[in-house]
Amino acid sequence: MSSVERELMFKEYNDILDNLKAMFLEKWKKKTEDNAKLEDFERFRTVGTGAFGRVLLVRYKPTSLYYAMKILDKGKLVKMKQVDHTRNEKRILQCINFPFLVFMEFCFKDNSYIYMVLPFAQGGEMFTHLRRMGKFDESLAKFYAAQVVLALEYLHHCSLVYRDLKPENILIETTGYIRITDFGFCKMVDGRTWTLCGTPEYLAPEIILSKGYGKAVDWWSFGVLVYEMNAGYQPFYAPDPMKLYKKIVAGKFKFAHHFGENLRDILKCTLRVDLTRRYGNLKDGSMDIKKHQWFQSINWLEIYNQKVQPSFIPQCTNQNGDTSNFDRYDEEPLLIASFDHYGKEFVNF
Ligand code: ATP
Ligand code: MG
Repeated sequence: MSSVERELMFKEYNDILDNLKAMFLEKWKKKTEDNAKLEDFERFRTVGTGAFGRVLLVRYKPTSLYYAMKILDKGKLVKMKQVDHTRNEKRILQCINFPFLVFMEFCFKDNSYIYMVLPFAQGGEMFTHLRRMGKFDESLAKFYAAQVVLALEYLHHCSLVYRDLKPENILIETTGYIRITDFGFCKMVDGRTWTLCGTPEYLAPEIILSKGYGKAVDWWSFGVLVYEMNAGYQPFYAPDPMKLYKKIVAGKFKFAHHFGENLRDILKCTLRVDLTRRYGNLKDGSMDIKKHQWFQSINWLEIYNQKVQPSFIPQCTNQNGDTSNFDRYDEEPLLIASFDHYGKEFVNF
C-alpha cells in the first residue's frame, strides 16, 4: 500500500469511528430495562468464575441460541464495594457496539443476583491458548494486538477507560478473532480518576503511585500484553507484590532475546513510565501506535472488517454450545432469597 493509500485508509477508518461514537452516545442517554428472566434460559455449566460471581453457558429458550450468563451476587458486591463498578459495567455493556468487544443482549435481576447475558465466545480465553502454545508467533501476536488497538481506541473515543486488559479477559471466537470481555472496571472518565483497580502485573506505574490517571493506563497494559504474547511470560514479575510494584515503577524490563527491532521499539514506547512520552498518550493519541513500524503490515480496515485470515482457529466441535476450551469449575446452585435485602443499593440498575 502506498503512503497516500495508507492515509486514505486512516481517514476512512476515522469516519467509521466517529459514527460508532455517535451510536454509543445515543444509547448512553437511555435507561437500561430488564428484557428477560431466569426462566427464559436453560443453564448448562460454569465456564468462568470471578470474585463476585460466575459465568455460565446458557441457552435462550425462545431462539435456542447459546449465551454466556454473568451472574453477580448482590450481597458480595455490596460487601466488596463493587456496586458502582457493576453499575458502570452494565451500562457500558449495554451501549457498546464493536466487533472485538462483548456486549449485552439481555439483563435482569432478582432478590439475590444481577444477570448479564453476553454472546458466548466459544474459543475460550487467550490465556488458555497462550499457555498451551508457550508463546504466539510474532504475526499472530500482531494480529491480536491490532484488534486490541482498535478496541481500546474505540473505548477511549467514547471516553471510556478499560483498566483490566490481560489474556484472561480476551476471548477467542470460532472465527479466530478476539472479543474482549469483563467490563467490571471500565468507566466513563473525562480527564482523570483515582481508584486502585486492575491486575498487579498489568498495573501502570501511575496507578501504583496513587496518582490521578487516565486512558494512558490502557496503553501501558497494552505494552504488557504485547510483551506477554510474544514472550510467553510477563515483562514485570516478582513473587512478592511489593517487589513487583518497585519493578513496574522503575520501568525496568528485559527483552526476550528473540524480539526484533520493531517489537522492541513499540514496547519501549508504550511501557514508558513518563506519561508525557508514552505512546497512545501524545497529541496524536492512538495514531502513533497504529502508524508504528511494528504495525506497518497491518491494514486496519481489513482487520476491522475481519477480512484477514487468522493463522490460528481454536478447535471447537460444530455444536454451538461446545465448552471444551473452558476449564471446569465446581458448580453451585443459585440461592435466590425470598426477600430483597439490597433494594436500596441497586436502584438505577
Ligand atoms: P474477574 O474479576 O476475576 O476478572 P469477573 O467476575 O469480572 O472476573 P469475567 O472476567 O467477566 O468475570 O468472566 C470470568 C470468565 O468467564 C472469563 O475470564 C471467561 O473465561 C468467561 N467468560 C466471560 N464472558 C464470556 C463470554 N462472553 N463468553 C465465554 N466466556 C466468557
Ligand atoms: Mg475477568
